[in-house]
Amino acid sequence: MTTTGFGQSTVLGYPRIGSNRELKHAVEAYWGGRIDAAALERTAAALRTDVWRTLRDARLDAIPSNTFSYYDHVLDTAVAVGAIPDRFARLGLSELDTYFAMARGAQAQPALELTKWFDTNYHYLVPEIADETVFRARPEQALREFAQAAALGITTRPVLVGPATFLLLAKPAEAAGNPFDRLGELTDAYAGILGALADAGVPWVQLDEPAYVADRTPAEIDALRAVYHRLGGLDRRPRIFVATYFGELGDALPALLDTPVEALGLDLVAGPGNLARLAAAGPLRGRTIVAGLVDGHNVWRTDLRAAVAVGATLTGLADNVSVSSSCSLLHVPVDLAAETSLAPALRERLAFARQKVDEVVLLGRALRDGVAALPAPLPAPPAHWRDTSVRARLDALHPAQLRRGDYAERARAQQARLHLPALPTTTIGSFPQTDDLRKARAARRAGTLDDAGYTERMRAEVAHVIRLQEDLGLDVLVHGEPERNDMVQYFGEQLGGFAATEQGWVQSYGSRCVRPPIIHGDVTREHPMTVEWSTYAQSLTNRPVKGMLTGPVTILAWSFVRTDQPLADTANQVALALRDECRDLEAAGIRIIQVDEPALRETLPLRTADQKAYLDWAIGAFRLATSGVADSTQIHTHLCYSEFGEIITAIDALDADVTSIEASRSKMEVLDDLRAIGYGRGVGPGVWDIHSPRVPSQDEVVEAVRRAVAAVPARRLWVNPDCGLKTRGYTEVEASLKHLVAAAAEVRGS
Ligand code: GLN
Ligand code: ZN
Repeated sequence: MTTTGFGQSTVLGYPRIGSNRELKHAVEAYWGGRIDAAALERTAAALRTDVWRTLRDARLDAIPSNTFSYYDHVLDTAVAVGAIPDRFARLGLSELDTYFAMARGAQAQPALELTKWFDTNYHYLVPEIADETVFRARPEQALREFAQAAALGITTRPVLVGPATFLLLAKPAEAAGNPFDRLGELTDAYAGILGALADAGVPWVQLDEPAYVADRTPAEIDALRAVYHRLGGLDRRPRIFVATYFGELGDALPALLDTPVEALGLDLVAGPGNLARLAAAGPLRGRTIVAGLVDGHNVWRTDLRAAVAVGATLTGLADNVSVSSSCSLLHVPVDLAAETSLAPALRERLAFARQKVDEVVLLGRALRDGVAALPAPLPAPPAHWRDTSVRARLDALHPAQLRRGDYAERARAQQARLHLPALPTTTIGSFPQTDDLRKARAARRAGTLDDAGYTERMRAEVAHVIRLQEDLGLDVLVHGEPERNDMVQYFGEQLGGFAATEQGWVQSYGSRCVRPPIIHGDVTREHPMTVEWSTYAQSLTNRPVKGMLTGPVTILAWSFVRTDQPLADTANQVALALRDECRDLEAAGIRIIQVDEPALRETLPLRTADQKAYLDWAIGAFRLATSGVADSTQIHTHLCYSEFGEIITAIDALDADVTSIEASRSKMEVLDDLRAIGYGRGVGPGVWDIHSPRVPSQDEVVEAVRRAVAAVPARRLWVNPDCGLKTRGYTEVEASLKHLVAAAAEVRGS
């Protein structure tokens, strides 16, 4: 035991969905009225118990609690500080149903906004802070979990999002002031929580401040210091562990060391520079450094010897060093043991959450007792993971091959082939994923529907979607993507160098889980992936059908990616496969190809200093994928977020002929951004917010199109929804698209 009693090993959090997604099934059953609140709570308690016992049995020293959540841990923190917006409080629902109303919306009350948790694929609910919000200490949930674990004989460390990060992630309610200005009041509420935890005998609390690994102003850093001075100065409190993750703390590191907090957590995987910064900070007497040495954000086994070396450096700097995961293990699948069909050479390189706990424990011991106990290093990866021809092709690429012709030339050649009217109408790609389609997929998995039967079913759907679009009078059609379970998984299942898991589920938001593919080797395209679907759709109509691909950046963003070569190299390998696919689509008579990059913005590095290098490779990979076609083939891209400002020049640099973007919620602000940089190619700002079941009226769409026409000449302007339609129902889709087509005609005629 170290003097402060933190222990040698810990994790910052653990998956809460259960090894068989029990949480998903239980909350969905509750929402569907199939089980009551008591039954839901029983499942939750069993899941928590299971996690605590697992961690204890793995001999992890310090075990977190309050990492369970029915939906999202940021929402839980909002509840713990009384930040329940009045619009939900006044619904008069039970505590649990108020909570779910904030997460999912209710009775004409839209949900809190959902957005990405830093650079992960986890989404949190954005706290909404009104001037009237009164922060209050509501430690009940944290206390309940602590007591529940204590009853099992397990002492835990409650985890909460820290006050500074909480407010930096929050947004003001309509017409309210900046939430961050309320930090003093919020800190008082945290002081109340800490007092209650101390009264209950809680020895340590973990407050997460990941917002400080992004660029922060000196004032924001001073505010952080003030918060922990105040909390550290309380006489009734647990010991405080401030956890940071996803990158380098920079100037916030000395600021935190300037306060009385007993332990500081640093991510040494995503933020290796934290080590030098710590060394520069001077002696760390009495302080515990919690070293994030095991990657919580990827699935690869840790290089234990390298990790021990970093740990040894730390031991020379601080009195107490504890080993942890670099971030919560929430972002990786639960247990590798559930995988039965992974190739042995891949499997032996992987560690999911359960295996990462073992690594943390082992490293903690190795730091104390020396390296003797470490397992032998891995053998070299199998030779067939390398593909020399892909590598040779990439090496031989000439910059000229990445450039398309002059845009004016392209536009002429494309129009000569496409004969599109002004304000052409189109959709983003997917049409509703009906129960029927899901059933067909399930039947095929279960073996009750053979491949031929499945294909026939999907073709019938494509035919239906084409007929519908012709009837509606859309100008550029799509095949509707019925055959795709997920826009990344679909390609991952067909490309070489990728592996799929059976049970590798990771929470994306609420009850939604995804199963990201694993990119372990060189990426190869073994056969065309989309050509048959697109050409079948095109055979049914004279109007142009868009080919539909997922771009290299998005494929990487939604996969677990190998770490033995730069991301840029892997992105280029994916891009090369897509380049071949584009060429095959073109050769098969497809005149327009859309390459979706919805993740371009979300994987933007948190620190400005790192953004240029990222954008360079991201743009390079997109252009590699799309520049192999003739000038007369029109390349579209789709980006689905509205905060464009920061990356607007990067979007221009993609050099797509047409870019469709989410815009309806932000009232077309993006068009001003585009105009400001002199963007001169096609653009399709979304005129229908597909995140809501509401059908926009023709007048509303007309108004949106008119606003767009004021900013972009009609010959470059497209009329389309914000995003794909897969989550919508047919009734809304038909009505909305009818209004969309009529609105385009009305504006054209005026
Ligand atoms: N083509 C995809 C679809 O329509 C794009 C999805 C997305 O933007 N996330 O579903
Ligand atoms: Zn989208």
